Amino acid sequence: RVAYVNGQYVPHSQAAVHVEDRGYQFSDGVYEVCEVWREQIVDMTAHLDRLDRSLSELQIASPMSRAALVQVMKEVISLNRVKNGLIYMQVSRGVAPRDHYFPPAGTLPSVVMTAKSVPAGKMDKVAAQGVGVITVEENRWDRVDIKTVGLLPNVLAKQKAKEAGAREAWFVDKNGLVTEGGSTNAWIILKNSTLVTRPATHGILKGITRAGVLKLAEMKGFSVEERGFSLEEAKSAQEAFLTSASGLVMPVVKINETILGDGRPGPIVQDLRKSFHEASELIKLE
Ligand code: PLP
Repeated sequence: RVAYVNGQYVPHSQAAVHVEDRGYQFSDGVYEVCEVWREQIVDMTAHLDRLDRSLSELQIASPMSRAALVQVMKEVISLNRVKNGLIYMQVSRGVAPRDHYFPPAGTLPSVVMTAKSVPAGKMDKVAAQGVGVITVEENRWDRVDIKTVGLLPNVLAKQKAKEAGAREAWFVDKNGLVTEGGSTNAWIILKNSTLVTRPATHGILKGITRAGVLKLAEMKGFSVEERGFSLEEAKSAQEAFLTSASGLVMPVVKINETILGDGRPGPIVQDLRKSFHEASELIKLE
């Protein structure tokens, strides 16, 4: 495998950044994960737009032009022969002697990128069974709309889920409403087939897959309510699911100890999963 690190393509096993990288010392950086599907980059424009926004919210300079970044993406995919899989890119505020204040103007942001193959059908197997979620108290800062690499609450929540035999943890805010998962957006489907998901304010990451499902739902004529939902409402929902670039539309069949419906992925979520790419931008790799 090959990784891109600050202008160079290096063996993945030797890909490293400096110990004084601000991403390493302060989580002072942002990232994106994009799906590669059938040799196409899924929703690339939306991911790169969100990367720009994350950078600008943190006043980190744009490391390179969009055309150059796209070139690196394509190169990393091709060097790793990825046909189906994921691209990871991270931009930090760069390397400087450790000090909380921003480094001197002119300090170059660090850019790393990797790509890995995910066997076609691997996530479909998980989705065929559906997954369980647990709930944890929302304990993150109020700017989780910025996709920073500061993911410690997410790491702890997801580990807790894993130890409980679940795949995801849903954060529940002080009003008793579900915000989102540790690495996914959260959805329920009501008995009248209405899709419900929290509005993308500062309280959640505005998922690109979430946006794709909103578009798909409109194409398919489903009604959607963008509002918060409580744990109680979720437990009595007809269906529920998670969205993310790495899992696409992932059916939820269990919330804490409550089994949803008959404990199997429902028809609407299966349909949304199957047709997800109909609503996405697909950029061919030449
Ligand atoms: N919410 C959080 C906290 C995430 O980390 C992610 C993805 O990593 C998502 C939601 C889903 O976003 P996307 O659909 O853009 O992958």
